This record gives sequence, structure tokens and C-alpha cells, in this order.
Amino acid sequence: MTRLILILGDQLTEDIAALKQADKDSDVVVMAEVAEETDYVQHHPKKIALIFTAMRKHAARLREAGWDVRYTELDDSGNSGSIVGELLRRAEETGASEVIATEAGEWRLIEALNEAPLQVTQLEDDRFLAAHKTFEDWAKGRKALRMEYFYREMRRTTGLLMDGDQPEGGEWNYDSENRKPPPDGVAFSGPMQFTPDDVTEEVLDLVEARFGESFGTLRPFDFATEPGQARRALTHFIKHALPSFGDYQDAMLDGNRWLYHAGLSAYMNIGLLDPMEVCRAAEEAYREGHAPLNAVEGFIRQIIGWREYVRGIYLHEGPDYPRRNGLNHQRGLPALYWGAPTDMRCLSKAVEQTRDEAYAHHIQRLMVTGNFALLAGVKPHEVHEWYLRVYIDAFEWVEAPNTVGMSQFADGGVIASKPYISSGNYINRMSDYCKHCAYDVKAKTGKDACPFNLLYWHFLDRHRERFEDNHRMGNMYRTWDRMDADRRETVLTEAEAFLGRLSKGERV
Ligand code: FAD
Ligand code: SF4
Repeated sequence: MTRLILILGDQLTEDIAALKQADKDSDVVVMAEVAEETDYVQHHPKKIALIFTAMRKHAARLREAGWDVRYTELDDSGNSGSIVGELLRRAEETGASEVIATEAGEWRLIEALNEAPLQVTQLEDDRFLAAHKTFEDWAKGRKALRMEYFYREMRRTTGLLMDGDQPEGGEWNYDSENRKPPPDGVAFSGPMQFTPDDVTEEVLDLVEARFGESFGTLRPFDFATEPGQARRALTHFIKHALPSFGDYQDAMLDGNRWLYHAGLSAYMNIGLLDPMEVCRAAEEAYREGHAPLNAVEGFIRQIIGWREYVRGIYLHEGPDYPRRNGLNHQRGLPALYWGAPTDMRCLSKAVEQTRDEAYAHHIQRLMVTGNFALLAGVKPHEVHEWYLRVYIDAFEWVEAPNTVGMSQFADGGVIASKPYISSGNYINRMSDYCKHCAYDVKAKTGKDACPFNLLYWHFLDRHRERFEDNHRMGNMYRTWDRMDADRRETVLTEAEAFLGRLSKGERV
């Protein structure tokens, strides 16, 4: 009896769970480019181009391997526009009544498949290192679900960077060595680039015609779109960037978009690269003396720690998570996030690079665009939708916990023990943006004062009740309270005036 084997756009892994259960002789693989997926938010054109190109190439490889693949292109006349619709169409075509799927990454699709009028089995996605049960067992009975403790478990179970039952070098975490200010020069020219082939060009034309109006620059497009290319990009990163990844992990440079970051997240998220293969390659670089421990531990922690942890939190917390608004922030997302001119250099550079590359590195996302939205009190759901739209690696299971939880503290502290907020001082220490800015990072009040300086105190003041007793924030409140009353009044008045201009859509 024929069964349908569903492969989604972020499940482009040869031995994905559903395929492992399938029978080449009788089952039919279903893949589909559908409007429901391109339109649930208005994605960056580069993101749609990457996914569709990689899907088409994956389908071709499966056919070569002998699978019967029924592939729907976006412009096909019979395209029903949804994953469930395509399954129903293929069921009618083949007589199949059963679907084997690998569990979708996000609630929206998990639920759509559960409710489909077909018998759908969703198998656990074993590309993740922590099974659902592993995460739930770890979470059970804990007062706080902190990443650091989960990460140690992952180190033990994977054996990565372990020396017997002890962490390599004696410490679990070398983050304190990974906060160096930006270097004078960067020896890495960014992730490996690939010239588009015919399949890619065809998709680029489609995306240009259908999604050319969306925020984001489509061309040049130089991403890897097949596993072999993604592996070359990994080797390139390990060789040229990993040794300095740790030192400059938190640094930002006005004239350099990548520093020593990998640019590999999208490849792992859609299945072109296996996270464990990435971590093993990094560990080998350490064992061979090519990269230092602080770099390799920091890199591996992002993948087996943060990446696995946020996915666990997303599933553990349930479908309402992206809608949470623990601090009751109600401001609309400022136009500058869509490229409206701003005099704030850090924000204008982060948004500009996001538009061009569909990429910004972690600290730009957290401490520039995220920090500003949090300080300004922007609705977390609008912030969430922005991140989901603009980044090439954005899938809700990883984006929402990072945005709603880590960056906006809208989950009430499930992920972070305190909000990630800073004045301009932090951005000045970790970047050279301020040197090029119309605002003065040293000025705390007055017309030239860096807006982060004003908004930082405004945030703390308006959320005093919520955070005053947080032991990690006591110092901040003591500093605020030591300022003389007139000065505090001036800061708050100027911050209000700034927020008023922001709300009116004036240039800030
Ligand atoms: P590197 O800095 O080189 O890190 C190596 C790898 O570690 C990444 O490829 C990624 O797979 C993993 N990683 C690092 N940090 C995290 C993290 N916090 N959570 C999960 N994985 C991590 N990452 C996404 O993959 N998709 C998203 O939609 C996404 N949205 C984010 C939104 C916000 C507000 C913030 C603060 C972070 C977000 N991240 C997201 C995490 C992180 O910023 C990106 O994974 C990283 O910037 C990707 O670039 P890279 O490959 O050069 O990463
Ligand atoms: Fe950003 Fe303030 Fe520095 Fe300007 S002065 S770049 S707004 S932190």
C-alpha cells in the first residue's frame, strides 16, 4: 500500500526520520513550495530563495537515488497553496491514505498535520541531539530552566570536549575569555560564497517576480544550496575563523559584517549540515592544536547548548509562547527597523546589513536591535515577527525563544534571569559604531545624548517593581538612586520626548 512521505523545506537531510521508515518500492515522497509557507510572514527574499533552491536540489538527489518524488513548484497550476492541501492532492493521485512525516519544527505545522483529514504519523526529528523525553526529564522539577545546566548534560551525553567525566581543561564554560573588544583588523573574509547555478537562477527569478517587494535584497545571492557546498563552508570556517571565534564573539565592527562568525545556522536549520558533524569538526580543530579551547568550547556551546536548549523550551512552553508579553510592552515597531533613516549608527548599520545579507550576528541581534526594542517598550510580538521575517536562519522554534525570551524578556524570565539591556556604554565597548554616530555615547542627557543612555534608565524606572528585587539588578537601581533627583527627572523627561518622536515616526 502506497504511503506519502512528507519532506518539509527545513527537512533536507538524506536520512531524515520519515525517509528511514519509507519503502522506495511503494512509497511516494511529497515535497511542495506553497503560499501558506511563503506568506505566514513576509520573509526576506534570500530566505525563500535558499529554501526553494535547496528543496529542488534535494528532490533531484532523491530521484537519482530511486525515490518517486512528487514535487510541487510554487507556480504549478494545480498548487493548492498549503502542505495539507498538497498531501490531499497527492493522496488522491496515488490512492494513499497514510502519511509519514518527520515532526514539523513549529507548532503551526505540527497542529495542521495533526488536524489533517488523513492518517498522519509525525516521527520525532532525530537530527536534534536532545529527544523530547531527554529535555522533559531534565526540565522536570526544576525551578529554573537555565541553559548552562542543560548544556553540561549535553556535553556528557555527546562526549564532546570531555576528558573522561570531566570537562576538557577543567571548566565547563570559557565565556569570560570571549568578550574582547573589536580587533583592529579581521583576517576572515566571511563565509564561503557560491556562484548561483541554473537551478538557483531559476528560483531567484521566481522569487524576484513574486517577492521582490518584500524587505530585503535578493541579489547577490551566494549561499550554499546543497550539502557538499555547506560542508565546504564549514571547512572554510573551521580553517579561517574558528581560532578567533571565541575572542571576538561579542564584538561588532562598523565596516565588517561577519567578524569571525560561522554563517552556518541556516544550513543546520534546513538540514544541509548535521549539527553533530559541525561540532566534531570544531572539536577536531582543538585536538589538533588548530583552535584554542575558549573558541571551540564557545562555538560548541552555541550548538549543543543554546540551539538545543531553545528548541526544548519552545516545545516545552507550548504554542502560545510567541504571543507572550510579560512586561506589557505596547509600542509599535519603529519604522527604522524597515530601513527608515536613523541617526543611531549602530541600528542603521545592523538594519542595513540585515536587509542586504539576511544576516546579523548574535550580539547585533541581542544588544543592538533587540536591546533597543526592549528599552523602547516595543510589542514583543511585532519584534518576533520582524526577526522571523528578516533572517535567513529564522524558524519559529529557534527564533521565538531567542526573541520573545532571551531578547525581550516577554516570557517572564523562563530563559533569562534578567533582561538583556544596556546603555550605549556596552555598545561603545564592544564596537566602533559610536565613533561614526551623530549621537554622543558619553552624553547622558542633552540633545546629543545617546538614546540608549536615556532609555536604559527609563526602562529600569518604569519596571522598578518587577526588577528591583532581582539580585542581578540591584546595582543598577542603586546607581540610579544615587543620581540627584533633578538629573533623574531630566533623563526621564528626555527619554519620554525621544519615545514620543519615535512613536510619531520622526527621524531619531
Ligand atoms: P555563530 O555565532 O557562528 O554561532 C555558531 C552556531 O551556533 C550558529 O550557527 C547557530 O546554529 C548556533 N547558535 C548560536 N547562538 C544561538 C542561539 N542563541 N540560539 C540557537 N542557536 C544558536 N538563530 C537561528 O538559527 N535562527 C533564528 O531565527 C535566530 N533568531 C535570533 C533572534 C534573536 C533576537 C537573537 C538574540 C538570536 C537569534 N538567533 C537565531 C541566534 C543567533 O543569533 C544565530 O544563530 C547566529 O547569529 C547565526 O549566525 P552564525 O551561524 O554566524 O552563528
Ligand atoms: Fe548606538 Fe548610541 Fe553608539 Fe550611536 S552613540 S552608535 S546610538 S550606542
